[in-house]
Amino acid sequence: MNPPQRLHLPAQRRSKEDVLEQMATLKAKDVHWKDGKVFSLVFYAGEEILELLREAHALFMSENGLNPSAFPSLRKFETEVVEMTASLLGGGEEVVGNMTTGGTESILMVVKTAREWAAAHKPHIKAPEMVLPITAHPAFQKACAYFGIVPVVTEVNANFRANVEAIKAAISRNTILVVGSAPSYPQGVVDPIAEIAAAAQEKNILCHVDACVGGFMLPFVRKLGYPVPAFDFQVHGVTSMSVDLHKYAYAAKGASVVLYRNQELRRHQFFVYTEWPGGIYPSPTMTGTRAGGSIAAAWAIMHYLGEEGYLKIAREVMETTKYLEQGINAIAGVHVLGQPEMSILAIGSDELDVYALGDEMTEQGWHLDRQQFPPSLHLTVNHAHVQSKELFLSDLRKAVDKANRLSWHKISSKVAVSMVKGLAKVLPDNVFSQVVSKFSGSGSGKGAPVPKRTAAMYGMIGSLPNRGDIHEMVLDMMDNLYRCQPETVE
Ligand SMILES: *Cc1c(COP(=O)(O)O)cnc(C)c1O
Repeated sequence: MNPPQRLHLPAQRRSKEDVLEQMATLKAKDVHWKDGKVFSLVFYAGEEILELLREAHALFMSENGLNPSAFPSLRKFETEVVEMTASLLGGGEEVVGNMTTGGTESILMVVKTAREWAAAHKPHIKAPEMVLPITAHPAFQKACAYFGIVPVVTEVNANFRANVEAIKAAISRNTILVVGSAPSYPQGVVDPIAEIAAAAQEKNILCHVDACVGGFMLPFVRKLGYPVPAFDFQVHGVTSMSVDLHKYAYAAKGASVVLYRNQELRRHQFFVYTEWPGGIYPSPTMTGTRAGGSIAAAWAIMHYLGEEGYLKIAREVMETTKYLEQGINAIAGVHVLGQPEMSILAIGSDELDVYALGDEMTEQGWHLDRQQFPPSLHLTVNHAHVQSKELFLSDLRKAVDKANRLSWHKISSKVAVSMVKGLAKVLPDNVFSQVVSKFSGSGSGKGAPVPKRTAAMYGMIGSLPNRGDIHEMVLDMMDNLYRCQPETVE
């Protein structure tokens, strides 16, 4: 690998047309999400909505939510967005909250708040712990890593919902927070929130419901008549919630809401420094400067759609989801995992290598996430997929046929080759050669045949005995990903 060539600021200025033209060329090579073949990364509800978001965002692009007295407009937007979200989620008058840049920031704030609340109310806790089901979003692990909290991970039941008995057993004198998801990301199922919250409340422990992906969907899904268990502030014992607006509220990226049962609890979220020569510095959330654009765009979309608009979108998304779910379950060899309440599906198989299936789908232009424990393909169905649902099923049928026709070994080695090629682009040479040696089986004894289940990279990774190796490999990959490679950006 050549040493990266340092990129400098262009010596001369370039024309606006020139700059924008290059950007458009680059954008054309990104995944195309408007045709409904991309899952989970982009939520798209049509050109009209996109146009509104663009205009609202541009109108407040330079404004800074850090100082709401300078921008009463942003203060109005944020407080009203929080208010409308709280009321959607069964929050009484005492529920308060803030906007953040995303689910991760909302979750970081909640964990930080729980730590401060415990410090104030339970000073005996020296090594705080957080109890979370294995399916909870990694943002909770990140928060533990950032804030020095010990994560205590609990198992889920066969239906992928949190195991309440395991949670009860995991709660200790040091527990500061118990977490449930509505729904969890991997299989899209809602945890038994009422029971989790009751277990926490009994011990006077805070309980967070992560409704990042479900908060702007489940209330409408319920209104449409689909069964949705209690999951919000209506449940006693739920003390905080996170709800992303840049997911099913179809807002611009960088918008989420964090909610607390009451003001007393939220005070532990705030940060104030009074001794700075630059002035007294109050900051509600993680970030300093707060982008006005995403706050404004969130307010705009909520008013533009209203309950009527969200219900209509939710109806179409749920019809699409049910169509996909039935279609998938009708294909021999694959099935939807668990009984998801809303519009997140995971496709698993007892017979086929779903990673090989995923690669077949990739070849047909689909962008699906690969999951592990158990292996599955992930679909976050949103309004963009109303148009592509028939194509998805017919492509999936073809992919399953192909996977059935080819022998395991052939598929595996084909996938292996393409995965190795992909890896070669992002892994440093020395790590790459380690991966290849594991791939080829030479790591586990000379001349060993390629084990068919380990041929796809995920299969291979799943079978590596040492998870620490994977951790290091991914760090190496990140070193490389976040390094400028001018030659790849023509
Ligand atoms: C997306 C998501 C998050 C994290 O949100 P970001 O906006 O990606 O930071 C947390 N929890 C769940 C369940 C999610 O789906």
